[in-house]
Amino acid sequence: MDSASIKKNVIDFIEGHADEIIATGDQIASHPELGFQEYKTSELVKERFGQLGLSYQEDLAVTGIKANLTGGAGNKCRVAYMAELDALTCPAHPKADPATGAAHACGHHVQTAVMLAVAQAMVETKAVQYLGGDIAFISVPAEELGQFEFRQSLRKKGIISFLTGKQEMLAKGALDDIDMAMMMHMQMPKVEGKVITIGGSMNGAIAKNIFYKGVTAHAGSGPHLGVNALNAAMIGLQAIHAQRETFKEEDCVRVHPMITKGGTLVNSVPDDVRLELFVRAKNVDALTSACEKVDRAFKAGADAIGATVTIENIPGYMPRKSDENLDSVFEANAADILGKNLVAEGPHLNGSTDMGDLSQVMPTIHPWIHVVKGKLHAEDFEIENPYLAYVQSAKIAACTLVDLLVNGAQKALEIKAKSNPPMTKEQWLAKWEELVGK
Ligand SMILES: [Zn+2]
Ligand SMILES: [Zn+2]
Repeated sequence: MDSASIKKNVIDFIEGHADEIIATGDQIASHPELGFQEYKTSELVKERFGQLGLSYQEDLAVTGIKANLTGGAGNKCRVAYMAELDALTCPAHPKADPATGAAHACGHHVQTAVMLAVAQAMVETKAVQYLGGDIAFISVPAEELGQFEFRQSLRKKGIISFLTGKQEMLAKGALDDIDMAMMMHMQMPKVEGKVITIGGSMNGAIAKNIFYKGVTAHAGSGPHLGVNALNAAMIGLQAIHAQRETFKEEDCVRVHPMITKGGTLVNSVPDDVRLELFVRAKNVDALTSACEKVDRAFKAGADAIGATVTIENIPGYMPRKSDENLDSVFEANAADILGKNLVAEGPHLNGSTDMGDLSQVMPTIHPWIHVVKGKLHAEDFEIENPYLAYVQSAKIAACTLVDLLVNGAQKALEIKAKSNPPMTKEQWLAKWEELVGK
């Protein structure tokens, strides 16, 4: 069967199951779960993979799942199609879990429903028998960065070594057999008149916990006996601000701190002051350089006052880059299904994702589907156009996979050969160690 006929079958199948796909998304949104705790969502995914007769590995990076669809016409390469499992804390969202405050305010529920639809279409239309490579359908936990205390506790227990799911899967070898990875993410309508943006890039990020230690004393009668840790922190923050003019525009550096503890009692010299911050940048060199400046600034604050400072570095995300050749396969299918005028090149975004880490070591694609009414991560987040979010996007993803893997996986192999990822997995691990320590 030629690829046009295979794609037509897949498109018709997805169209015919539109209501079920949307219902699956609604079902997932009804039990939002935070990162590394997505147990119910994980069960739902496993049940669906089981119904499709797919073998899968479970408990990857705590709650992750990887199902394998074996190409019926060869196994020359393996493409990962990924969907994120987690919700995020957004207690004001109308569908938030009252116990945890978790809500699907980033659209990951849609990703999972779409991934399951694509898997079902590949199996039930028998498209898989024409594929010259495998598809790994992967549910990844914990894309959102947060709940540091909980995740650091998992890290200290040796359960995870990174704080997000794709990084953890990569570090633990669960992606060693993957040649390239694709996923889609929901987005607000930022580009006028366009519903899909493809390509673009995103910032990398490092999180830091800062602990200033001083000496407490009576704030009225004995401040000369104390060491004021809050003053040390204020000087540290000023020293960061004094360096902002050195950040180059094209590096898109962001440094955003927050004081989480400013002292213990107003009548005592503050001796225990804590801050959290993120450093973000568009490339690894700028991220490294901005981190050095931030660390220097905090140390200068401590030195000036005679306090001490401890800086705890937490791995955030690597910057995300796109693979142009992989992008163009997706773009052609998006144009076929939606019309060329609705598809655009994506911009650089200063936000971050763990797909960035994968993009450093393999070809990846992370297009945005502009279907969100309200704001990402906010209580007014809502999918405005479910047909586009679930049904049209599933058709585009499925047709992209067909194009990559028909004819002996010719297209996928060509993309792999042309790709030039900046790092190997070993170099990626070494870079994180250099940036944040072990
Ligand atoms: Zn998010
Ligand atoms: Zn997200």
